Amino acid sequence: MAKRDYYEVLGVSKTATQDEIKKAYRALAKKYHPDVSKEENADEKFKEVQEAYEVLSDPQKREQYNQFGHDGPMGGSGFGGGGFSGFDFGGFGGGFEDILSSVFGGSRRSSSGSSSMRGRDLKIGITLTFEEAVFGVEKEVIINRYETCPKCSGLGAESKSDIETCPKCHGTGRVSVQQMTILGSITTETTCPNCGGKGKTIKNKCSNCGGEGRVKNQAKIKIKIPAGCEDGQGFRMSGNGDAGLNGGASGDLYINVTVKPHEFFTRDGLDIYVNMPITFSQAALGASIVVPTVYGDVSLKIPAGTQSGTKFKLAGKGIKDGRSSATGNQFVIVKVITPSKLSQEQKELFTKLANTDEKSESAWDKIKKFFKGQSK
Ligand SMILES: [Zn+2]
Ligand SMILES: [Zn+2]
Repeated sequence: MAKRDYYEVLGVSKTATQDEIKKAYRALAKKYHPDVSKEENADEKFKEVQEAYEVLSDPQKREQYNQFGHDGPMGGSGFGGGGFSGFDFGGFGGGFEDILSSVFGGSRRSSSGSSSMRGRDLKIGITLTFEEAVFGVEKEVIINRYETCPKCSGLGAESKSDIETCPKCHGTGRVSVQQMTILGSITTETTCPNCGGKGKTIKNKCSNCGGEGRVKNQAKIKIKIPAGCEDGQGFRMSGNGDAGLNGGASGDLYINVTVKPHEFFTRDGLDIYVNMPITFSQAALGASIVVPTVYGDVSLKIPAGTQSGTKFKLAGKGIKDGRSSATGNQFVIVKVITPSKLSQEQKELFTKLANTDEKSESAWDKIKKFFKGQSK
């Protein structure tokens, strides 16, 4: 197939100005764009138009074409021989990619077609006492959030009759826009500028929310913290964040828990630890001591000869997990307290005690014997 003259393709004279060439090209590109054209061989013709324009719109290439015709100055290779794929887009700088992305981006966007927007998620922190965390608690907090306007129930209008179907997009929220690109005229769908994609316009906007359908409010909300909650644990209350826009869902409320340290108790998972001071004589003779637990005081039997640091277990006196119903234990670590002040009577008793120590082998003697054994 013989190549048609580029001027003939665009339907312009050999003396046509750049403006005339551009104008002719636009009209033809629109006519033959494969996406929109119903003409026969539109694809073929579109390529032909593109090629002609590519050469004639470039003064240097146009000059060469005028001199050498289709073969170009080098002969053979010519101008845009490869048709569409042979284009030199370099001359357009970054424009080509921009246009492609707007074309593809545009067609992707058109499928969503809604302007509704989910409300923001909100985050708050609450601080609990050790006991509140152990047993669970209901806390009331105040948060600033957007809530559905109580006056218009989110409609944004003074009354239902104030809401009209948008005349520009006829309620679809989308409008078609014809764009001229180097690929020709391309139709893309965009959000309707008249209604912002809502498909509806409001004659008289709600005086309370100004048409937004939601208002800022200081909301008092109750948060139920389950038993067994730990420091640093997070909870999500779905739908308790900001109200959405145009029918969009509400965001969520995220709650981060801080548990204040306790005076006596420490915690490891569901187990509770407590250090209990005991006296010399309690450790040596054994005793029944009173130990605090989160469920109240209990008595614990210490056997005679208990060493400082011994760990006792109070089964089931740990934390009950509100969700799994697993229960921990409480561990009591006894610490023998060396008396720092002694009464006269106590002094005499300790002296008597010390005298009896001399008869039995002292701990120091045992250590000396041990090392002697090692060095042999
Ligand atoms: Zn509209
Ligand atoms: Zn309102």
